[in-house]
Amino acid sequence: NTDVRESMYLVSEFAKTYFHNTLLNSEEGKAIGYSYFKERGFTNETIKKFGLGYSPEAWDAFTKEALGKGYKLEFLESTGLTIAREDRPFDRFKSRVMFPIQSMSGRVLGFGGRILTNDKKAAKYLNSPESDIYHKSKVLYGIFQAKQAIAKLNNCYLVEGYTDVIQFNQSGIENVVASSGTALTPDQIRLVNRLTKNITVLFDGDAAGLRASIRGIDLILEEGMNVKVCTFPDGDDPDSFAKKTSYDDLVLYLENNAKDFIQFKASLLMNEAKNDPIKKADLIRDMVVSISKIPDRIQREIYIQECSRIMDISEQVLLSTLAQLVQKDV
Ligand code: ATP
Ligand code: MN
Ligand code: MN
Ligand code: MN
Repeated sequence: NTDVRESMYLVSEFAKTYFHNTLLNSEEGKAIGYSYFKERGFTNETIKKFGLGYSPEAWDAFTKEALGKGYKLEFLESTGLTIAREDRPFDRFKSRVMFPIQSMSGRVLGFGGRILTNDKKAAKYLNSPESDIYHKSKVLYGIFQAKQAIAKLNNCYLVEGYTDVIQFNQSGIENVVASSGTALTPDQIRLVNRLTKNITVLFDGDAAGLRASIRGIDLILEEGMNVKVCTFPDGDDPDSFAKKTSYDDLVLYLENNAKDFIQFKASLLMNEAKNDPIKKADLIRDMVVSISKIPDRIQREIYIQECSRIMDISEQVLLSTLAQLVQKDV
């Protein structure tokens, strides 16, 4: 229902403004939220560009303000901003810094909220629930701010988190979006596909990040897009790396370390596989499976040649393996 969604967009836009003003103008917001962002190295310009905010500690501060302004409880609830409990509705987001999640056209769809401590036991981020306007498998954080740069530079950096997107922007790299903790989906990749055919995956330099990069590769290839992968040193993510690196060095690092998926898989697994024929065979099979996802036949052929060269195995064997896999697909 369009009217319902329209009302939900209005409430969400109001919430974005409320959290943003609270961050910049309230004593609590300035002392806690704003100083947190400053410590992370975010400038006022960045805070404004991404509409960053703060949700106060009081349990119903936002809900009370919104109801007072005439927003209906129905839509406060359906957006997930308010949780109804009998006659005492309360705020979902409390004592968190707030990241509004926007559509390609800039509509506010939902929020991510981060706790301010590094308490390992508490869930670090809380997100808006799925709703009629927020489908987390269909959105990419930062796409509204990034779309022009992605089209212009004909490449999109894909990162894991909100702060990776923001820190890159602050470093001067604007063609960047985040999957925000969900495993990458075909719908998310199709959003990028409207702007460019080229994705460079920049996931965290830890085991989880590597696993997620590997999973993402085949999905991107299946959409007929080109994928590169650039990894970061263990313990770094794009945010922490960019924060300590100058723009020039960051650009250099990305240029020098972006690998196509064959090189990436080879570099990841080759050490292990080099002296073990069985592992090497598994690795090669895995590469051919990825190649089989590519819709374009000529591209498949080119990657087969590269795989043959890097893995030192005949093209004939690779091609017949590929033929079996492609046949299975149809
Ligand atoms: P920070 O730098 O603020 O600590 P991060 O972005 O590096 O955060 P990661 O732990 O690397 O955080 O997670 C990547 C992304 O996954 C986050 O930005 C967030 O979107 C999502 N995420 C992480 N933890 C949670 C959680 N507990 N619940 C929901 N989403 C989460
Ligand atoms: Mn991580
Ligand atoms: Mn991270
Ligand atoms: Mn981080």
